[in-house]
Amino acid sequence: MYLPCLFATYILVLVYVYSGLKDLDTGSRLCSLCGRRIAKHRLRFSEKFVGFPDMFDGDMVCDVCYKIFTSQEFRRRNWAIVGDEVGILDKKQLFKMVSDPPVNSLIYVKSSGRKMGFLRCLRYASSKTMVALCGEDEGPVIVDRQRLRHVLSIAYEAYNTFKRKKTLLEGCSPREWEHHDLCMKIESMKGDPLWQILVRVL
Ligand SMILES: [Zn+2]
Repeated sequence: MYLPCLFATYILVLVYVYSGLKDLDTGSRLCSLCGRRIAKHRLRFSEKFVGFPDMFDGDMVCDVCYKIFTSQEFRRRNWAIVGDEVGILDKKQLFKMVSDPPVNSLIYVKSSGRKMGFLRCLRYASSKTMVALCGEDEGPVIVDRQRLRHVLSIAYEAYNTFKRKKTLLEGCSPREWEHHDLCMKIESMKGDPLWQILVRVL
């Protein structure tokens, strides 16, 4: 009598533990790219994919990351995630959004449009005080809103003055140095990832 009872209890415990594990396994796994939303889609990676170090464990991703990862459009264009929506931005929309990024947004600014520069950024989103930008070459740039406004205003003024981005990225030519203060500001910003992203936004 005693042994069969013990055996039955053992089986019940096993079944209970297994069903618990199963729930854990499929219940509410978070996205392997952003870690912010529930994972719903399995990703298939090409043999050339080298982005695993930029991911959390696993190959399951959320609706938003699946859309970004699987469509070529999101490599070639500028876009933003706001909340749980992702949308392509034209140059005007991009500048407007970078001027005052919405809370819970991530803004992606492409360069050549060939790389998946967004992989390193998907886990970030702007808050009331901090902004999350992502450059294709630069990766994530997290900056407070005041500094973003300050740097954007310098970039805007410099571009309006010199009319060419080469000056903003490489420094003033001998003739341009007549705008001494502005050239000094460019010198102090050159090479800064935030600066490089904002010059592309202009
Ligand atoms: Zn995701």
